[in-house]
Amino acid sequence: MPTQATTDPDRELQSSPNDSGVVDLRSDTVTRPTLAMRRAMAEAEVGDDVYLEDPTVNALERRAAEIFGKEAALFVPSGCMGNLIAIKVWTHHGDEVICEERSHVNLYELASMSAIAGCMPRVARGEDGILTWPQIEAVIRPTIYYDSQTALVCLENSHNMAGGTLYTADQITDICERAHAAGLKVHLDGARVFNAAVALGVEVAQIASNLDSVMFCLSKGLGAPVGSMVVGSHAFIEKARIYRKMFGGGMRQVGVLAAAGRIALEESPKRLNIDHQNAQRLAEGIAQIPSLRIDPRSVKTNIVIFDCKETGMDAVQLCDALKPHGVWALDTAPYSVRFVTHCDVGAPCIERALEVLRAVVTKSQGTAASTARQ
Ligand SMILES: *Cc1c(COP(=O)(O)O)cnc(C)c1O
Repeated sequence: MPTQATTDPDRELQSSPNDSGVVDLRSDTVTRPTLAMRRAMAEAEVGDDVYLEDPTVNALERRAAEIFGKEAALFVPSGCMGNLIAIKVWTHHGDEVICEERSHVNLYELASMSAIAGCMPRVARGEDGILTWPQIEAVIRPTIYYDSQTALVCLENSHNMAGGTLYTADQITDICERAHAAGLKVHLDGARVFNAAVALGVEVAQIASNLDSVMFCLSKGLGAPVGSMVVGSHAFIEKARIYRKMFGGGMRQVGVLAAAGRIALEESPKRLNIDHQNAQRLAEGIAQIPSLRIDPRSVKTNIVIFDCKETGMDAVQLCDALKPHGVWALDTAPYSVRFVTHCDVGAPCIERALEVLRAVVTKSQGTAASTARQ
């Protein structure tokens, strides 16, 4: 049953979460800025950030560094640019980057690590997207002059395509220690690292403690309209700033965006547990629909991926069938559908999504059965 904790007063004060009545579960990128964010944006004190003179950006960067227990931070236009900047800083042309097969840097960043940073992804397949040290160690290149060299390990926490799965802070620290001993840097694609921290019951600084760099998104579950950040040492951020400019990401009076980012960073992590409860409720509801497959215990954060093979529909067909009923989802594999919970879908939206899903699947089963009888 929906509980008191699944409603969010700040959100209730806004116009309805989606004015068209759509329950948009495609991604947590669809979140829209709160009234408080819009006000802060309107009133933001700004300056030229390429000249380091935007006080709102500077404050955001100082605070992000503090929260992550690192020396410095940099505001970047997108998560993809943040990851690319980190990869560029830590590698030379011709190096290899170890990452998980279904990781964002491998699948959804337009091969930028190759096209722009000049690196080869060297993938390993992790159980639930989570790499162990032996899996990483197995693909490190030996130091031989005619082999390309491994420079970087890139982890993803939470892991998007594996269904929001988690590395614990200890697992990450252990991988970092061993990677450093092998002469490698470790970058975290922490697009949803606050979801990970909330689910693990730790501070993001614990996850970040041994990492050389972390990218996190303000624009996803934290609800800011635009922006991501990279954090690391002073030396790392100094180089990151150069590459941000080179990649076209040097922005001017960008305090208008950082103002929303500051609120997202301070306020939003506190409410991510609501999204996780809603995801759990979705997973339990889906598990009760005959012919849909999911283990609710595998859902740890705000991402719910289920299998629809037994419905007779593939994932694209199922998403297309849901859409006219105002429930939007994404296919992530031929028979996998993803729902992502976020601050613009409250508990009633979750119940609505389950109702529609049940009705659509039941109807298709009826059609399949009558077709079979003909
Ligand atoms: C969304 C996302 C990114 C970055 O996305 P942008 O759209 O470029 O901000 C990076 N990694 C993961 C795992 C993501 O989910």
